[in-house]
Amino acid sequence: MAKMRPCVVCNKQLAPDATTCPNCDTKDPFHTKRNNNILAGVVGVAIIAYLAFEHFAGGLNFLG
Ligand SMILES: [Zn+2]
Repeated sequence: MAKMRPCVVCNKQLAPDATTCPNCDTKDPFHTKRNNNILAGVVGVAIIAYLAFEHFAGGLNFLG
């Protein structure tokens, strides 16, 4: 018997590798995609902040 995991939306027992829930139709029954999006968002903000800082610092050097 395969180990089952509960859907985070409706608590239906699903296969651990399920990517959708047939009961409530969520596309993320274990909230794994949400975690990945948060991580990607943090990395994206850090990169944008770094590029903005580099641009700002470069402007100061040009003026100085
Ligand atoms: Zn569900």
